Amino acid sequence: MTAPPMITAPAAPLTYLDWNATAPLSPVARAAVIAALEVTGNPSSVHGAGRAARRLVEDAREQVAALAGVAPSGIVFTASGTEANGLALHQAPAGRPVAVSAIEHDSLLAPLGALPAARRVHLPVTATGRLDVTAAAELIARHRPGLVSLMLANNETGVIQPVAEVAALARAVGALVHCDAVQAPGRMACDLLALGVHMMSLSAHKLGGPKGAAALVLADGLEIRPLLAGGGQERRRRAGTEAVPALAGFGAAAAQALAGWRPAAGHMTALRDRLEAAALAAVPAATVWGRDVPRLPNTTALALPGVAAETQVIALDLAGIAVSAGSACSSGKVAASPVLAAMGAGRLAGQTVRISLGPTTSEAAVDHFLAAWIRLAADAAGPAVQVA
Ligand code: PLP
Repeated sequence: MTAPPMITAPAAPLTYLDWNATAPLSPVARAAVIAALEVTGNPSSVHGAGRAARRLVEDAREQVAALAGVAPSGIVFTASGTEANGLALHQAPAGRPVAVSAIEHDSLLAPLGALPAARRVHLPVTATGRLDVTAAAELIARHRPGLVSLMLANNETGVIQPVAEVAALARAVGALVHCDAVQAPGRMACDLLALGVHMMSLSAHKLGGPKGAAALVLADGLEIRPLLAGGGQERRRRAGTEAVPALAGFGAAAAQALAGWRPAAGHMTALRDRLEAAALAAVPAATVWGRDVPRLPNTTALALPGVAAETQVIALDLAGIAVSAGSACSSGKVAASPVLAAMGAGRLAGQTVRISLGPTTSEAAVDHFLAAWIRLAADAAGPAVQVA
């Protein structure tokens, strides 16, 4: 019998630069999850154990409501940002078209694809990655959609979208307006009223909370149709026993994001700007997408001409650095990122990696990335790339 392979610990700690995929669980969220795991009751039970669980859910609801700038009754907890987006889309009035930007997350684009072509309107973006507001105004006026959805900040480029402007255009034709704000908390303000939208999606694991908790935030008084029928949880808007520990962690992370996003944004902007300046100085042929428009403070989409994104991700992984490819992998086939394709990135869409930082990212982590990426550019790049 041959001995099983030895599993050895990595030589160095991981440099984690993939916060937009999922943020590390914050210590306050971890503590809240662990404490809530000890609470036995079902929040719908009337006895003391049930009431203790209910208290945790309602505390979390208040914390998430404060982050989103709404009353606690406006929070509908779901299991994921994907579910929150699906629930929002479910509110589209029958028979009227649905308009979404071309750079939305798959959880909006995939269900939209199931609608008849006549009911789908894609709002284009410019080469900067920002919605083309002139084109959107024309399409909204022409198609008079019943629901319009525009994300607050793009998950691949970090580009901040003109949500308030588009919300006004959509309201003018009587449309419901939804905003996928999953990437915003902890990085920028995400106040539903200021955005002028009817619905907004949030997800705990993007802001330091656990996976498996999220919310659809509703404007005051908005009634919605549930996706899941069953129990009367969440005021009959989402059936299913609440995931009490995950929601407790979501609440703690939301409170932390609300209290700390401004200093965190300053820290991340400084690191991000240093990373981009050093990368572009070393590799002048490289491109940072959306550099000239407002972006999240933590996100860099960096193209290295001639080097496939997958090659970059694997080489960086071998160096102990976690980043994402700006392209999606399905059924073993590598597809260029639809977001970058919508921006007209051409070939570079498949040669772009996303580096996303967090409030605890260090200078050393950025230096580690830069050293490895610049080495990779020098080693692997074709003649298109000159390393200074
Ligand atoms: N919307 C955006 C912009 C995202 O980046 C993601 C996750 O990557 C989602 C929605 C989906 O959230 P979840 O992972 O909670 O389903």
